This record gives sequence, structure tokens and C-alpha cells, in this order.
Amino acid sequence: MPVRKWLSIGLALLAVALVSAAVRFFVITPERIDRGQNRVQHVAVDITPGAQALQATLDVADMHADSLLWKRDLLARSDRGHIDLPRLIEGRYALQVFSSVTKSPKGQNYDANGGDSDTITNLAIIDLQPPRTWFSLLQRSLWHAEKLQDFAEQSDGRLRVIRTPADIDRLLADRKSGVTVVGGMLSIEGLHDLEGKIDNLDVLYAAGFRMAGLAHFFDNDVAGSMHGVAKGGLTPLGRQVVQRMEAIGMIVDLAHASHAAVADVLAMATRPVVSSHGGVQATCKINRNLTDDEVRGIARTGGVVGIGFWQGAVCSLDPNNVAKSIAHVRDLVGIDHVGLGSDFDGSTTTGFDAGGIVAITQALISRGFSDDDIRKVMGGNVLRVLRAGLAARDAKG
Ligand SMILES: [Zn+2]
Repeated sequence: MPVRKWLSIGLALLAVALVSAAVRFFVITPERIDRGQNRVQHVAVDITPGAQALQATLDVADMHADSLLWKRDLLARSDRGHIDLPRLIEGRYALQVFSSVTKSPKGQNYDANGGDSDTITNLAIIDLQPPRTWFSLLQRSLWHAEKLQDFAEQSDGRLRVIRTPADIDRLLADRKSGVTVVGGMLSIEGLHDLEGKIDNLDVLYAAGFRMAGLAHFFDNDVAGSMHGVAKGGLTPLGRQVVQRMEAIGMIVDLAHASHAAVADVLAMATRPVVSSHGGVQATCKINRNLTDDEVRGIARTGGVVGIGFWQGAVCSLDPNNVAKSIAHVRDLVGIDHVGLGSDFDGSTTTGFDAGGIVAITQALISRGFSDDDIRKVMGGNVLRVLRAGLAARDAKG
């Protein structure tokens, strides 16, 4: 009897230990991964009163952040990662594009990746996402859309999901009249989440997605990636996808597309395209960045190039290097075709977070940009191009 009693006490203790270990694992590990992947290495910048005053009048807009990938309450101020609503408000953001990352190869690098492995599956399970997202890329994107919608609904009106040109007009009008509100727009990082079916484009559109990059780190059945193995152009499905996106009012994003795929899209585009996040080879000669010809091609469509803040985009974390890349695009194609594409929370290390975005304004002032030009770079250009791109073809938005 005593033996059996001790045995049952031992089993009960073991069960308690296992449950508490599991609880700790599923609470602590997601936070540890988020902290490890999305870092800030503060770069010291003196912000002048003039820069602060100008910042207070800006409608900042940024074309790329992966914040929805992580298990983080985006409504609460946090000291991890780069973005949450309080930091967006502090940075004077009018609009942040939130991207849906659905598949990332193991050992991800800029040069060559196959598509036969995936690290996001483990993340989905460790983060205890709904099981339907564990093995479906489409469901992962739909989950990201639900997350943004839920944050918006719980935000007391401070975060608003943007889907139409009228939404942008109302957002800017409300901000002008003193309302504290930030828009969030959904995009996709790599259309492998179509799972090979063009009809899923309409499913994603219905869920609120309004911009999409064709490929991410590996070649997919839509287009080649600049980090893929074959690095090919648009596939026949990819051509259908681009046409359908232009028809329904989804903006084509060239970020991560192979140089061949960029050329294919630019040859067929009839509406403005963007490169949502990255750099230019002229100031940071890494294969992932745009050549001058590609920048000219994007400008020719009426589109905009988003400059990123991390090492791979501008070869430094210094905001002055971001300003240098912006100045290059301005000199090449004019001030109307350059904007921000931070890649905040995109497994990046940056010199500042969304709350410190005034560092870019300061760097542009130091480089001699006029207030009007800074207004365009910090948000005006992106808002103009997105507003135009959100209208369905032939619709007058
Ligand atoms: Zn990216």
C-alpha cells in the first residue's frame, strides 16, 4: 500500500512538472524567438527640434513589415521587435503595410535556396497557432489577416484596416482633423500561399490582402526568386496572376523577385508596381538590390521603390545610408518614386524602431532635402501609389 501511494504521488508530481514545463515552453519560446530575430542596435543620431517639429506634421507610410508573423500583442507597447501600435503612433505613421510570410527555407540566405524545407511550420506549432495553419500556406495568410482585423477591432479606433482608396482618403482626413489613427494594409510575401490555384487570389483579396510579392526566398510556381536556385522569370501561372492582380486592384510587389521575373513583370505591367522593401545596387552592391534599370522600370509604371533600414538593403544600420539610397533614386528617376520599406520585424536588425523613425527625417534634412520632398519620401509617395493601386481596373477611386 505505501509503495502504491508513493507511486501515485510520484506520478502526480511528474504530471505537474511536465505540464508546467510545457506551459513555460509555449510561453517563453515564442518570445525568445521574436527577440532573437528582430533586434535594434541603436545608432546614435542627434534629432534637432526642427526635425521633431516636421515629424509631428507627417503622414508616415511604410510598405513592409512582418510583425504579424510573431506572437506579439501589437496593441501594447513592447521592448521587443520593431513595431507595435504605440510605437507607430509615436513615429507619426499614417499607414503600415503588414506582410504575410508563410514559408522560409532552412539556412535562408541571399544566394540560393531550395523550397523543400520550411521553418515557419515549427513556428506555427510553437506559437500554438490554430492547427489549420500548421500545414497550409493559404491558411497561414488567412490567419495573419484575422490577426490584423482582431487587433483593429480591439484598438479603440486607433488601428484601421485599409482596403479601398476611400479608406485612405478617410484615414488622411481623420488624421488631419486631429484623430489619432494608423492604417494597416495587408500584403503577401511570396505567392506560394496560392497553393498553385489562381482562384485563391480572390480568397486572399476577400480576406483583405491588397499587395503581393511574387516569390520570397525560393523559386515558386508563380515566379523565380532572386535567392532561388533557378532564378527564372514569371511562370504561365505567374502571368495569369499578374493580370488578375491588376484587374482586381492588388498591387504587384517586385521585392525578392529574380531579375528575370522583375523584367517579365515590367514588360507586361499596365499599372504602377512597387518594390516594397530593399535597396539599390548603386549604393549597396548586393544581388538582392535593384539595378538602376530596374529602378527606372518601376518609375516608368508610376510606382515607388521602398528603401529598407537593414544591412542587406543599405549596407549599414546608419539612417544616413538610408538617406543616401533615397537620394540616389531621386537623382535617377525623381522624388516621386521613392519611399520607405523598413522590413521591420522581418528577422532584421535595424538601428532604430518604428518609434524612432524621425531618424530618417533627420538624415534627409541633413542631406539637404526640402520639407516638401521629405513629406513625399516619408509617406506621400507610398500613399499616392497605394491609393491608385487599390482601385479595381476602370474604377474611379
Ligand atoms: Zn522580405
